[in-house]
Formats: sequence, C-alpha cells, structure tokens
Amino acid sequence: MPPRKQGFSTKAVHAAIEPDPSTGTIMTPVHLTSTYVQQELGVNKGYEYARVSNPTRTVLEKNIAALEGGKEGLAFGSGMAAITTIFHLLKSGDHVVLSKNVYGGTYRLGKLVLNQFGLDFEFVDTTDVRNISYAIRPSTKMVFIETPTNPTMEITDLKAVAKIAKANKLVSIVDNTFASPYLQNPLALGIDIVVHSATKYLNGHSDMLGGLVILNDARLIERLRFLQKSIGGILSPFEAWLCLRGIKTLSVRMDRHCANAMEVALFLSRHRKVVKVNYPGLMKHPQHRLAAQQMRGFGGMISFELGNLAKAKAFLKRVRLCALAESLGGVETLISHPATMTHASVPAAERQAIGVTDGLVRMSVGIEDVGDILEDLKLALGGV
Ligand SMILES: *Cc1c(COP(=O)(O)O)cnc(C)c1O
Repeated sequence: MPPRKQGFSTKAVHAAIEPDPSTGTIMTPVHLTSTYVQQELGVNKGYEYARVSNPTRTVLEKNIAALEGGKEGLAFGSGMAAITTIFHLLKSGDHVVLSKNVYGGTYRLGKLVLNQFGLDFEFVDTTDVRNISYAIRPSTKMVFIETPTNPTMEITDLKAVAKIAKANKLVSIVDNTFASPYLQNPLALGIDIVVHSATKYLNGHSDMLGGLVILNDARLIERLRFLQKSIGGILSPFEAWLCLRGIKTLSVRMDRHCANAMEVALFLSRHRKVVKVNYPGLMKHPQHRLAAQQMRGFGGMISFELGNLAKAKAFLKRVRLCALAESLGGVETLISHPATMTHASVPAAERQAIGVTDGLVRMSVGIEDVGDILEDLKLALGGV
C-alpha cells in the first residue's frame, strides 16, 4: 500500500522532523557549530562545513519543500538574500520580466544594484499575462511574479504564466510570501521556483529574518545549491529553528488571519471615509474569481485608500492597537504607509502608476480578537 498522503497541518508539524537519535529530543536541536568532525579522509556524516549545510537548516529545508510540494528547499538569511541568489542564475545581458508592483526591495535590487552588472529588469502589469508575452525578447531568461501583489493586492494567473514561460524557455519564479504555502502552491500550477520571505507568515512571530526557495528541477537545484554556498547568504541555525517552530502553527494562524481580514475588509468597504478597499476576498475585487481558483483563502493583507497624505497621516497617528511598522505576517496587526515606507525607493511617478498613492494604507491583519481591531479602526477613522 502506498503511504497515505498527509494533510497540510500534519506536514507542517511533522515533515522531516524526527526525534534526535542521540537523545530523543522531540524538537529539532539548534546545531550551533561551524564545522563537523570527519571519521577519516573522505568519510563523514554528510556535513563538512556549516555554510554548505547545517542539520537544523536541513530540517527546515526539507519541511518547507514538503509544504510547497517541491523536491528541495534552500534556506537563506533573508528574503532578499534568497532573491539575490536566484538572480545569480542569470548572466550579463539577460533580461527579466517582473510584475510591476513587486516588493520594493526586489525592485531596488533589480533597478539600482544588479542593473550595474548588465542585467535588464523590466516591470509590466502581469494581471494581464499578454503583457509578459509582449515584453519577451531573445535575451529574456526569467519571469518573476508576485501574487497577490504588495500593496495593491492584484492577482496574476499563475497557470497562464507557467505556460508562457515554458513556451519561451524562461525560468518562472513566484514570490509566494503574501499567500504562504497554506493558501497557494505555485509549483503545482507549473511554476519553476517559489521564493518566500520567511520573515513574514512562515515564521509568523516578527522575531527573525529568513528566506526560503523551493523547486523541483534537478539542474536548477544543483545550480542554486552551488550559488547558496558560493555567495554564502545562508540562514543561521537559530533562525532556522525559530522558523521551524513558527511553521508548526502556520495553518491555524492563517485561518485566523483570513477570517479577521475578511471582516476588516467588509468593515472598511462600508465606511464612508474609505475611498477604496483592495482585498481579493471581496466580490468586487476585479480578480476575485481568479483568486478563488488559485488560492485556498484570501490571506491577511489589505490595503485601502483614504484620499490623500494628510488623511493617511491623521489615521496612522490615531491607531493604538494596530502598530505603525513595516513588515507583515506576524500575529500582531501592523499598519503601514507604502508610499513613504516600503515603496520609498520607487520614483513618485512610478509609484502613482502602480497605484501606490499618498493616501494608501496597508494593513497586515493579525490574529487578535477581530472586535478589538475593528474598534481601533473605527476610532482612528473617526479622526480623519
Ligand atoms: C519582506 C518581503 C521580501 C523581502 O524579505 P526579507 O526577509 O525582508 O529580506 C520579499 N518579498 C516580499 C513579498 C516581502 O514581503
């Protein structure tokens, strides 16, 4: 009989996690070591030097691979370290097509850092996948998608992207940070590489930074392993342990994030001082149906328009429970102002073009009692 396929929550708690053979500890130990003793020349237990591999990190890499349905996972010191390493699959002269409102750090890396090495990053509106086809040139090697996007919550059709990428021999990459593997699995839709900022939902407790990459293709796995040890942007054993600990509760946290966000989105969409709400769970979201098809839930991220900078400022000054901070995906509700925070490195004209207006507020809805979140919003909106 083939082994029974386990559910997501069971895998989150158990995949790759075995009691420590020497002591029986049920929790994966934090292996704080830089090197490993070898039995004799050429004989070891699979570990030689900790930049290359570490047993705590290995468990996390195997666990996330199981959650995303990939063959292998690779852990990095931050989401940006993971994305930087992926872009090293390219060589000078290569062209990359990206979603126009990718994470601000990804935009900065492409436009202000890697462009200096002869790489060409082009940002297009991937909500209409034809824009990807139009942008492809002979030098195009990669397509990089974020869905839902930050902060306007636009959805890109991942199956369609995978098809275009295959037809044009491009490596397709999805930054799956906003959805988490609980809500969306791009590899199953034909995407080549999934990347996460584990700093966000995967760890979920706002107490570490990390990046994870998951993929199936043997050739790409070999190259990325080589790049991981060559560039050295690896995840530390303690951060790997924190992330493993966070992942065990991912499914219960995400259920609450989704339920709370839905209530907050409905509340905001009925409030007279809110001009517009961006949440894929709302029926009036332009891609609600696509989101419902390729995601198992709509996530905990919302953005909404208050009209202008003065109104956004007044609102952000008055919130008490919701903390004004960058980042997302933690248990506590965080609220931010993309135009001056996460997207400050994007030129003003481009910010307007991608919908990051001065009156836009982003919310990472936490797992608190939703009544308390709504009360805080009600009071803060009253002063706008
Ligand atoms: C935060 C974030 C990143 C970068 O991750 P770090 O861990 O902060 O380096 C990349 N993509 C998205 C969508 C993010 O939210």
